[in-house]
Amino acid sequence: MAFLADTHQYTAEMPQRSWRMMINGRGVGSVHVRDVIDPGTGKVIAQVPEASLADADAAVAAARRTFDDGVWRDLPADRRSQTLWRIADLLETHADELSMIEALNQGGPHRYAREDLIPEAARVFRYYAGWADKITGRALHLRNDSMELHAYTARTPIGVAALITPWNSPLLMAAWKVAPALAAGCSCILKPAELTPLTSLLLGEIAHEAGLPDGVLNVITGDGAVVGARLTEHPDVDKVAFTGSTSVGQAIIRAAAGNLKKVSLELGGKSPVLVFDDADLDEAIPGTAAAIFSNAGQVCTAGSRLFVQEGVYDEVVAGVARIAADLKVGYSFDPRAEMGPVISEEQRSTVMGYIESGVDEGASLLVGGAKREPGFFVEPTVLGEASPTMRAAREEIFGPVLTAMRFRSAPEVITAANDSPYGLASSVWTTDVKTAHKVASRLRVGRVGINVHGLPDVTMPTGGFKESGWGRELGPEGLDLFLETTSVFTRVT
Ligand code: NAD
Repeated sequence: MAFLADTHQYTAEMPQRSWRMMINGRGVGSVHVRDVIDPGTGKVIAQVPEASLADADAAVAAARRTFDDGVWRDLPADRRSQTLWRIADLLETHADELSMIEALNQGGPHRYAREDLIPEAARVFRYYAGWADKITGRALHLRNDSMELHAYTARTPIGVAALITPWNSPLLMAAWKVAPALAAGCSCILKPAELTPLTSLLLGEIAHEAGLPDGVLNVITGDGAVVGARLTEHPDVDKVAFTGSTSVGQAIIRAAAGNLKKVSLELGGKSPVLVFDDADLDEAIPGTAAAIFSNAGQVCTAGSRLFVQEGVYDEVVAGVARIAADLKVGYSFDPRAEMGPVISEEQRSTVMGYIESGVDEGASLLVGGAKREPGFFVEPTVLGEASPTMRAAREEIFGPVLTAMRFRSAPEVITAANDSPYGLASSVWTTDVKTAHKVASRLRVGRVGINVHGLPDVTMPTGGFKESGWGRELGPEGLDLFLETTSVFTRVT
């Protein structure tokens, strides 16, 4: 049984404080507030301001003014770099508080927040701190029949950027956008998800403490369909960087059409995991289990479609089911917990609905399928003998549910893996280097792991083909999203 007994005996105290948005360097409240829930208990842990349209407009105005005044973008690049570095230092200084609040707000083992999520957010700021003074163009000497020209490209910040984030790994998702936007010299407005706003509000305070000029990073909390939509249609916003669902991504493209904002989108996924007969099963079985059950499956790149070649299907699926059955599911502050709840009651009923639909359509429930209260817990679940046409095998579930399918040959599994509207990530498990690279080259996805499902690394771009998004975040590509290019020609003869 995956659920830990007496898991709620372990607790953490939410600091009593008043939560405020950051607009133009000042803490701003609101007459309307929204309850923030701990998904591990279902209890209210905080109340945050619900931004009005006027708040969204004030945040855009502050960002616009600071961009046009040049208080940030015109600073010497090494000064921008030092500020980003100070933000990273402060994230580490406050790591105990940040990780406790992140675990309370998002669920998931506190240890994971303390050891991975918060240090990784600091690393993202340091990585982009290093880029701030390395933004360069190209130089060319041009000649035609009548003249010679010295030409170069200049790279300049794109302007005012609206940064809209989802509820999974909230501080890290914010860091992926805020750090490159600031390194490029942009001014921004961060709008975190309704369910997980707390560490983004703290990031606004930390950036202020680090000496970022007032109005360069504004943080507003509120309804995506209201204030999020306002940012995406606002004529003074030049760029939208969004992470979230494909349907909201499509709405953003429509809203951004007015002034043809530049838009980058990190969207949903239904990532295939391909295990061949010759795979090292000692690595493949735990690797494929971790690919789906990390963060209770609430990871855009979760390996939710498992394709196993027929010779090892029974062994691999039984092995993954055994790991699922043994996973310890519990409250964030239970030191035994390896997996936490899903984010909300609504998300849990979505997940349960997919499990039921998989069984109704003929899959066998090998393990899991139960829920537990208090909190929004779901057992790690494996649906065996699934078929690629089932809803549970086609649609993004964003929960700890794996659909397992058989395949015979590489061409067959490549076709099946690519038969998805999504194209975010995948992994290939084989000891044959030719199979590995041949299959990797045929998969229509933004990331392929070979004998590893792979986590994003700040140095490597991440993003999707097809309905998984536009553009690539992280790495130098993540900085490019916040830069424009101007070609400059100088006549020399
Ligand atoms: P969501 O699309 O519901 O919300 C994301 C954000 O958009 C929230 O801040 C929300 O308030 C805002 N929003 C909602 N409607 C809006 C509108 N009309 N205009 C502007 N903003 C609006 O997504 P979610 O449920 O918070 O997150 C889960 C989704 O995020 C999953 O589909 C997951 O795959 C995806 N995701 C993708 C990546 C990636 O890197 N590709 C990473 C994490 C999550």
